[in-house]
Amino acid sequence: MKSFLQEIEKQLPSSRIYTDEMRRLAWGTDAGFYRLIPQIVIHSENEAEIIHILQTASKHNIPVTFRAAGTSLSGQAISNSVLVIAGKNWEKYEVAADRNSIKLQPGIVGQRVNDILKPFGKRFPPDPASVKSAMVGGIIQNNASGMSCGTHENSYKTIISARLIFADGTLLDTSDAQSKADFLQSHPDFIRRICELRDAVRKDKELSELIERKYRIKNVTGLTINPFIEFEDPFDIILHLIVGSEGTLAFLAEATMRTVTDYPFKASAMLYFPNMYAACQAVTKLKKSPVTAVEMFDRQAIRSVEDKPNAIPELKTLPAEAAVLLIKTEADNEPALKQYIDEVTAVISKFDLLYPTRFTDRASEYNAYWTMRSGIFPTVGSTRPIGTTCLIEDVAFQVDDLPQATADLRALLIKHDYSEAVIYGHALEGNYHFILNQSFDSTSEVERYENLMNDVIDLVVDKYKGSLKAEHGTGRNMAPFVKREWGEKAFRLMQDVKQLFDPKGLLNPGVIFNDDPNCHLKNIKPLPETHKLIDKCIECGFCEINCVSNGFTLSSRQRIIIQREITRLKKTGENPNRLKALEHDFVYAGEKSCAGDGLCATSCPVGINVGDYIHFIRDTKYENNAAAQKIGQWTADHFKTISFGLKTTLGIAHATRSVIGKTAMGGITKGLRYLSADNMPLWTASLPKPAPRPPKQQKTNNPLKVVYFPSCLNQMMGASHDDPDQTPLMNKMLGLLNKAGYEVIFPEKMNHLCCGTIWESKGLPKVADQKSAELELALYKASENGKYPVLCDQSPCLNRMRHTMQNLDLYEPVEFIDKFLLDKLEFHPTNEAITIHATCSTIKMGLTDRLVKVARMCSTNVLVPDEIVCCGFAGDKGFTLPELNEHGLRKLKAQIQKHGSKAGYSNSRTCEIGLDTHGGIPYMSIAYLVDKCTTRKV
Ligand SMILES: Cc1cc2nc3c(=O)[nH]c(=O)nc-3n(C[C@H](O)[C@H](O)[C@H](O)COP(=O)(O)OP(=O)(O)OC[C@H]3O[C@@H](n4cnc5c(N)ncnc54)[C@H](O)[C@@H]3O)c2cc1C
Repeated sequence: MKSFLQEIEKQLPSSRIYTDEMRRLAWGTDAGFYRLIPQIVIHSENEAEIIHILQTASKHNIPVTFRAAGTSLSGQAISNSVLVIAGKNWEKYEVAADRNSIKLQPGIVGQRVNDILKPFGKRFPPDPASVKSAMVGGIIQNNASGMSCGTHENSYKTIISARLIFADGTLLDTSDAQSKADFLQSHPDFIRRICELRDAVRKDKELSELIERKYRIKNVTGLTINPFIEFEDPFDIILHLIVGSEGTLAFLAEATMRTVTDYPFKASAMLYFPNMYAACQAVTKLKKSPVTAVEMFDRQAIRSVEDKPNAIPELKTLPAEAAVLLIKTEADNEPALKQYIDEVTAVISKFDLLYPTRFTDRASEYNAYWTMRSGIFPTVGSTRPIGTTCLIEDVAFQVDDLPQATADLRALLIKHDYSEAVIYGHALEGNYHFILNQSFDSTSEVERYENLMNDVIDLVVDKYKGSLKAEHGTGRNMAPFVKREWGEKAFRLMQDVKQLFDPKGLLNPGVIFNDDPNCHLKNIKPLPETHKLIDKCIECGFCEINCVSNGFTLSSRQRIIIQREITRLKKTGENPNRLKALEHDFVYAGEKSCAGDGLCATSCPVGINVGDYIHFIRDTKYENNAAAQKIGQWTADHFKTISFGLKTTLGIAHATRSVIGKTAMGGITKGLRYLSADNMPLWTASLPKPAPRPPKQQKTNNPLKVVYFPSCLNQMMGASHDDPDQTPLMNKMLGLLNKAGYEVIFPEKMNHLCCGTIWESKGLPKVADQKSAELELALYKASENGKYPVLCDQSPCLNRMRHTMQNLDLYEPVEFIDKFLLDKLEFHPTNEAITIHATCSTIKMGLTDRLVKVARMCSTNVLVPDEIVCCGFAGDKGFTLPELNEHGLRKLKAQIQKHGSKAGYSNSRTCEIGLDTHGGIPYMSIAYLVDKCTTRKV
């Protein structure tokens, strides 16, 4: 391993090679229930690096595993050797001119591909429930499928060509004649062997028929061997063998995939059946109707979601034996959709349902159904007894067998005392998942699980000739049973393929092929009780798309992983050096660089807010730190003095910059920050000037009144040097409100007030609450006991106020404009290209659409940049940890330049400073835009 590492270090920067305890553990963990800790983690960036890694691995006989998003469930994206990540650095794509195909690098998230294709009325066909997190490389390599793609639109059916890097480092582009000719010349035996295997399979009628039959339903057990009977050309065979090979045959560097029509007219319905048998009978009939998805939930699955906020009310009323089908139909025009709905309703009308059938074509409603469906597994997992493992199985039957097979499956679960197990899944394809909460801490428990699995295997393989793995991949979980399912001949064929592609057995060893008959019971991931805020997590990774530090330091999921391991090591006393290293490294990577915005909770199916957990860690640190408490309390009690001091500092910085210029100022402050070991906050050219005092307001008899609380930041910070409009926000907001006919009331002693966010983010919750209580009192008085609406101009502050204050009608700018000003202002939209940014709090408060709407009323040319979620400024982190802000906004500038925007709008002054710095255009509050584009309605 040492020599391998030395050679790798010669070609790749050390910043992308991890050998430390923390990052090996963090990156080594996937969504499955197994754990192996890699010795080296490498963040790859391009094909040349992969070639070098694979050639070096081959030279030193070092096993290599690839990883995309790490949402795999069967133990196939983990390694105890070298783990090569191909995620964030592999995100290029190219849509074909006719839009019928798309060239994709493996690190693009599936949903992003859908977003790219949406404007063309197309979509990416494979649709696993994890599509918002899983990446193209992982989706293809697992042949992942979902609610609609079945066996007709999965990766196997829609892949057109690929760039592959083999174990010996050879690159093959199956779309390029020259590349194929070169391969033929360099690897004649390889191609000859593929042809031999193809011919042998075709000659063997029994084997060909077996292959044909087994792939009529979803099947990902073992390697994908149908290419031998479906394709003539050896390169087509190679290409299709790669699909579903789980990184055991070659690295996938790029794939061209066929796109399919994204039907614009969709409708979905929830169907409530008295029992599972009836639901399954309905599925067999629906199969012949124009439905594109039928998902089944047993009563246990429904129980896991029926108490969620906004849950469908019928769910809770269902009797113990009930089962639910969620169905979808789609069309390219409205009359066709109506016709399909009628046809499907006619099929369903033959069955007795607990509630009448009701289709909805309202996107918000049916999207809520499907979001609920996608989160079933993590939601069920969150209800497991702490310390147990949440196991998910993934079997498939012929659809006609479903009624009896489901009853048999339930009987087996009861027989082995798993009556709490949940059954749900893609019924249209006969593909069921069942979820078990399993403890592995006693022999009897392990035996219970083993006995169940043995019976399940008999049931699926022998009685129903089904698949043991329909879509999640064989991994380590089903590796011992591949031969059992496929039989001797087909299994030998798979071994021959593996031998051909990877003669040294270095690509993802232990996955699909594993000599240990008990490998599915080993290396189970520990999930020790750690803290109630995170204990429900099953490490699915769905949170990572919204975590700004993901790929920079640690992601939200990785923070949980490390904290769990710290807890375990503390409990067991095992490996004190490891514990020390994890605790040490977590301070920066886990704690300091967490933006704490809680956006992770918005994509977590059970709403785990890792930001809150990190706040808790910070709070506990400061709880026992008397000095910090004292300083915190002093700053709260003397806030007016602090604001004055900060305004003076901003004034000095601004005056200095005016004299020495922004380049010299940037250089000097960067130098000072360096000398202070990054303790001095970073100065940027976007740093604002101090704000002037707010203009005095006169009391009138105007019944239209609003209490305006300019956040403490906006009382301190004015416009930036380069802002096109130098009016401070307070004055701008006043002007806008007055234009709309509002009398503005400022709370008393405004410059002493703050919502408390500053102290909350510093781990001083008591002081934070003291400040918000003061503010609440002042606002209550100013609004005459809640009679008038209260507007705060800083979205994150308003978000906190919403959580800490009662009896006040609170609004942030966009919401206030949308609700109260639209009918009072005349909008005169311009063609000026502008960019907008929804802050984390805007997203969390569900106001993004309103921001977009208001912006579009002002400009016909609005850019909502892709893949920018949290900007990473995170209060004051943009000054103290600017690298997080830089990482969060790394994709912004190019999009702005392409769009040609000259100005950006948002609703948080601090975020705007970071956006300014990294976007290259001035960012201001949305109030400036609305003021600029409106006149008073007469
Ligand atoms: C809550 C939840 C729901 C899920 N629902 C579904 C579902 O409905 N249907 C379904 O099919 N799956 C589902 N999955 C499983 C999983 O999300 C999918 O299989 C997904 O496609 C894996 O993608 P990934 O990017 O996470 O890949 P990873 O887990 O990172 O990797 C998957 C496999 O591909 C290999 N690999 C990755 N990149 C490359 C590359 N560039 N070259 C070669 N090999 C590579 C890895 O070694 C590994 O074997 C679900 C998972 C979760 C947690």
